[in-house]
Amino acid sequence: MAAVLLVVWVSGSLVAWRDRVDSLSDSSRLTEALTRVVAERLSGALRGLDLMLKDVDLHSREHPDPIELVSVMHHRSAGLPEVRNVFVAGADGRVVASTLASMIGQDLSRRVYFEAAAKAPFHSGLIIAAPAVSPFTGKMGQVVVRPIIGPLGTFGGIVAAALNPEFFSEALGGVVSGDVDRAVIANLDGDVLARLPDPGRHMGGSIKSGPMFTEQLPKSRAGTFIAPSAFDGQERLASFQVLDRHPIVVSVGITTQAALRRWAVNTMIMGGTGLVFTALLLAAFIQLQRHERNRREAEAALKASEESYRILVDDQDDLIHRYAPDTTLLAVNRAYARFYGQPADQLIGRRWIEFMPEEERPFVLSCLHALNQLQPYREDRRRVFLADGQERWIEWRTTALYGALDNLTGYQTVGRDVTDSHRAQIAIAEREELYSQSFHRNPAIKLLVDPRTGAITDANDSAALFYGYPVEVLKRMHIHDINVASDEDIAREMAAVENDGRKFLRFRHRLSSGEIRDVEVYSSPLHVGGRAYLSSFVVDVSDRNRFEAELQAKTAELARSNAELEQFAYVASHDLRQPLRMVTSYVTLLERRLGDALDESSREFIGFAVSGVRRMDALIKGLLDYSRVGRGGEDFTQLDLGSVLADACANLGLGETGDEASVVVEPPMPVLPGVPSELIRLFQNLIGNAVKYRHPERKPEIRISARPEGTEWIITIADNGMGIGANYFDRIFGMFQRLHAENEFEGTGIGLAICRKIVATHGGRIWVESEEGQGSRFMVALPQSHGHTGPAAH
Ligand code: ADP
Repeated sequence: MAAVLLVVWVSGSLVAWRDRVDSLSDSSRLTEALTRVVAERLSGALRGLDLMLKDVDLHSREHPDPIELVSVMHHRSAGLPEVRNVFVAGADGRVVASTLASMIGQDLSRRVYFEAAAKAPFHSGLIIAAPAVSPFTGKMGQVVVRPIIGPLGTFGGIVAAALNPEFFSEALGGVVSGDVDRAVIANLDGDVLARLPDPGRHMGGSIKSGPMFTEQLPKSRAGTFIAPSAFDGQERLASFQVLDRHPIVVSVGITTQAALRRWAVNTMIMGGTGLVFTALLLAAFIQLQRHERNRREAEAALKASEESYRILVDDQDDLIHRYAPDTTLLAVNRAYARFYGQPADQLIGRRWIEFMPEEERPFVLSCLHALNQLQPYREDRRRVFLADGQERWIEWRTTALYGALDNLTGYQTVGRDVTDSHRAQIAIAEREELYSQSFHRNPAIKLLVDPRTGAITDANDSAALFYGYPVEVLKRMHIHDINVASDEDIAREMAAVENDGRKFLRFRHRLSSGEIRDVEVYSSPLHVGGRAYLSSFVVDVSDRNRFEAELQAKTAELARSNAELEQFAYVASHDLRQPLRMVTSYVTLLERRLGDALDESSREFIGFAVSGVRRMDALIKGLLDYSRVGRGGEDFTQLDLGSVLADACANLGLGETGDEASVVVEPPMPVLPGVPSELIRLFQNLIGNAVKYRHPERKPEIRISARPEGTEWIITIADNGMGIGANYFDRIFGMFQRLHAENEFEGTGIGLAICRKIVATHGGRIWVESEEGQGSRFMVALPQSHGHTGPAAH
């Protein structure tokens, strides 16, 4: 900047200096020309005068007669209007002839011009005296003198002319105009002969001490110089010229101010221009500096803000990236790089569109290209696959970026990993769908009821089908519209569900057809969004109730007929024994009375009859026992199974280490609920059978054990007897079912049937496992506590 200014100003100064020199030389050319004009003009006039004086001189030599001479003088000077008077003086200074008669005889020897002529008689030109007031005319005038050289070559006097003072002034006529403000004619003594302007004032003055006389004329007869004026002290540019033949110097001057006016104007213009330029340059420089400072500050601020932005952006968990319109990544933050598992510098330069599944690319690009300055933002949720194939859901917020020329420079996108919430939303949507499907597309009749108001807030298709109203109609209905119970009853029942944990309610609902159906309403209270609902599914139990009622009636009928049958069996078996006993006693009496009269076969017949009766009795007793099971009126008590078994063995006459059979009870034995006499009979029958159906070659060994299973005790009675064929496992528990003939093993085939009935009345089961020839295991499952009933018997 400073250098520029220096160059500008130096070159400006050079131009100005050059201009000044040019201006001065232009002015000097003018003054020189004018000087030359004045000199020429003056030379011409003086030559005329000189010729006239020379002519008078010659004449005076040829015709010394003064009168004639005067006449010649008149004649000669007549053509020279500037000549006021012509006179001739002798060497002594006496005027010998004059056109002014009064001068004749006057002594001029003391006059300056005379003295000058006397001093230099061979002066080449005219002697021009300083203007002075003529003692003869009393007028200011000037005298030009030509010395007269006598015949002997000595000073012979003067021939002179007194001139009007305007003579010299007129020579200057027209010179002073415009910038040329001074013209002067002086003799070489420095006496001013004429000066413009103001010709009268300076006449007679001297410029001898002025710079022209002191500095210029000693060096040269003509020239131009600049110096303060001898008259007014003003600096001027002046040209001077000494006339060739006459001792006169002409000078024309112009004030340097005027001479340099153009230059000054130019310089001023140029300086002004320079100043303006400098000021502009300075202003521009300051502006530039300020702009530069602002730019630097802005740059620093931008850098700082970019740095803080970068830190901010880098610290974000969001995936921030900038990219060119073709998705070439230009900048990515740490989270973005981390997300794609690659260093940021490896991601930059790649096109992120390539990270997307191919089929999704056209859509995504079309979305990007749809952005414009009016609509530069876009939000969407898209799937992204990571390098390891993991699927992530990202919510992308994209902003199109525009440059200073409104040109699209690229995009910035901020992505947030919303996989978890996305999945949660999907899960919610799925749950809603699940609810919708399980509610609406459910074959069960479902209603959603507001328990406060009883309004039906939702109903499914099955409900619509059942009630005969479209779903939309049902949803505008009230539970009171379909429930025939009173409002109070409905409210009370619904409150019971909400407050007392009631699982279901029994109501009667009216269908659109007017038909009334029995329903069970299974309700569960729900609280969604601070509101309570009763989610109810309605079961039409009208048919079930009818069936139940029928079943109940049938059961009652069955029970009654069973009771009758049992009563009949009891009475029959009881009453049947009486005649049997009569048959037995009379047959026995008959046998005893006939005594020896009876032959062998008669005795055998009687024996058959008695044994038949006994068997009949045993059968009837068995029936009686069977019919008595469960009718004994005895209560259930907690029984120690060990003592029950001990009683059973004792009734059978079996000791633990009896010779006939060994019975081993494996502890521990449980305590369980049961009717004592019946359980004793149960085990008595089973142990008795184990002894009875022994293997012919082995002493019976019976092992009794008990183990808990679920809610039951499983009691096993295992023997090493003859075993049972698998075909008979079920059959043997039937009434009168026997696998052996009476003569093989005594028995009625009722024992196991009674066992099954006892077990059944105790809520248990009985079954057998056996292998023929190896032994049998009778299993009894009895509930561990009273009231518990196990699964049905095998
Ligand atoms: P009964 O013993 O009076 O014949 P049960 O009802 O007690 O009648 O027995 C029915 C049949 O079951 C028996 O006839 C017998 O064949 C068979 N049985 C019962 N217990 C056993 C056993 N422990 N071993 C082999 N067979 C048996």
